[in-house]
Formats: sequence, structure tokens, C-alpha cells
Amino acid sequence: MLAAVLHEPKLIRIDKVDAPEPAAGQIRVRVRAGGICGSDLSYYFKGKSGDFAVREPFVLGHEVAGEVDALGEGVTGLAAGQRVAVNPGLACGTCRFCAKGMANHCLNMRFMGSASTFPHTQGMFRQYIVVAERQCVPVPDGVDFAQASMAEPLAVALHAVRQAGSLVGAQVLLIGCGPIGCILLAVARRAGAHRVAAVDLSDKALQIAASLGADEPVSAVDGATINKWAEQRGRFDVVIEASGSPAGLDTALRSVRAGGTVIQVGNLPAGQSPVAANLVMAKEIRYQGSFRFTDEYAVAAAEIASGKVDLRPLMTHAFALEEANHAFEVAQDRLQSMKVHLQFD
Ligand SMILES: [Zn+2]
Ligand SMILES: [Zn+2]
Repeated sequence: MLAAVLHEPKLIRIDKVDAPEPAAGQIRVRVRAGGICGSDLSYYFKGKSGDFAVREPFVLGHEVAGEVDALGEGVTGLAAGQRVAVNPGLACGTCRFCAKGMANHCLNMRFMGSASTFPHTQGMFRQYIVVAERQCVPVPDGVDFAQASMAEPLAVALHAVRQAGSLVGAQVLLIGCGPIGCILLAVARRAGAHRVAAVDLSDKALQIAASLGADEPVSAVDGATINKWAEQRGRFDVVIEASGSPAGLDTALRSVRAGGTVIQVGNLPAGQSPVAANLVMAKEIRYQGSFRFTDEYAVAAAEIASGKVDLRPLMTHAFALEEANHAFEVAQDRLQSMKVHLQFD
């Protein structure tokens, strides 16, 4: 089978490797579509994502859907040919965080396409993957594979908005309108946000954000508008930081109202970030992180399958697996693309 293997920054080779065999309780999935995520882009261009560095040949990809190809012994809940979205995370179910319902912090987490462990847990941009049965969420045949693969970023957004508490009637600011930011916007809207302002450097991203329901799209270079948000102890009830930049976090802390909430979804650079942290004390800000997701994956797949959430406006490009390097270049170019998919034959 073919696999898109990152050998060094900006160099993916399509390598021929042996197809894996499913053991008891496992499923072999024929991958049909995979979305390129911000962390994939960081690994590809910088050789690291946040604090995790690539240290060996590495298959990227953690947002895929495909069809069940082969069943390991004892698997009864799925049938060959069935369409599935694949949860990239496999938690142990028994460690102290799993016991608390915080499986995203599982001490033995195997998250595919992440360099957080060594040897790395290889990702899913390959023709066949083997996963546990419970990682597969069936979706109806009418849902196309690329759409089904959006269950992963949607799960990230559902988890993040949950962390914010009720958004009913809230004034919300979204910082960073990349794919995750735009999905957060759609989720915040459904969660009852009253008004949503959205900031990004790219006008194209702001246009898409507006089409998904941003009331007030603001360019990140519009300092006059952004400075105003900090007046009178801040304007927004909830700020969602999805840019992963220290400047974005700084704007979040300045713009949130006293007693408001800042949700950190963006992956900040490794090490220290210079921000006006004293505002956390002075305005009694609740600064809450959000990391991946727990049980939101199955919910996300169901929301997509039912058509309740339509993320197609974000799906701007698709390329064949063989064009992976080009696909990453396009995905990095925020002036032309939003979510870019790889398609597998
Ligand atoms: Zn992702
Ligand atoms: Zn665990």
C-alpha cells in the first residue's frame, strides 16, 4: 500500500509499505479522505507542533474517514464495506484521567499522527490503517468521505465551546478564523451566542467567517477597532482564542470583559509567550484551556451525518495522495485555502 511519509521538513515521499493486519478487536480501514490540520502543517513546515518535535519518518494525518476493509477476530459491531469516520485517539480507559472522564489527558493515549510520544504514533495519510473497533463511528453512505473526516475538527470545537459554559445571549469574540476557528464560529452560533465578532489577518478567512455567521468580521491590522474592545474593562463575555499566537492571546485578555472567560484552543508556540498576564488577576478572567476532545467525536460524526452542521463552505480544495506536498503548500496559503483534503482511490 502507499503511505505519505514525512522524511524531513517540506518533504513527503509516497512510500510503498506493507498493509497492516488487524488483530483481535481491531478493524482495517481503507482510508478514502483525510483533512490537513494546523498541526500537520506545523510538522510539515517546521518539523514540530507546539512542544512535539518529529524525530523519525512520520506519517501525518489525524482527520480521516474511509470504509471498513477487514475485521479482526471478535469484531461484531461493524461490517466490511461500511463507511466510518475514524477517531484518531485511543485512550486506555483505566488510568486516573480516563477514570475521571478526561480521556483526552489519558496517560497512555495513542493519538495517531502525533509526535507527542516516541516512537511516534503514526498517522492516517495512508491507504490502510488498523484501529480499534471503538475508534470507528459509522456514517451513512450518503455522507461523502471528506465531509465525514470533518468529525475530528468539529469534535475539537464542540469540546472547546463546552468549556466556555453557556453562550446563550453572550457577546463572543473569535480570534483566528482558520478551519478550527470557523467551525468554532458555527458551533458558537448554534450554542446561542448573541453576537460574534471575528478577527483574522486574512480577508478571505473573514469572508468565510461572515458567511458562517460572524456579525462583525475585523481585520487583525485594524488596531483602532481592537483597542476599543479593551475599554471600560473589556467588551466580550467570552473570547475564543483559536489563532495560537501570543498576539492573539494578548488581544483576548485585553478584550474580554471583567469576569469573562477566555478559551484557549489555539496551539501556542513552545515555551513562553509574552502576554499581559496580569489582566487575568485584575479583571478576574477565567482562562480555560481546551485540548482535543473526549466523547464529542461520536456526537460530531452524528451531527455531520444528520446535516445539522454543514461544514462544506470550509472545504475548499482536494488533491490526490500523490500530490501531498502540493496539498500542504496550498493548505498553508491562507489567502487561497481553508480546509484542504487528500483523496485516496
Ligand atoms: Zn486536527
Ligand atoms: Zn487512560
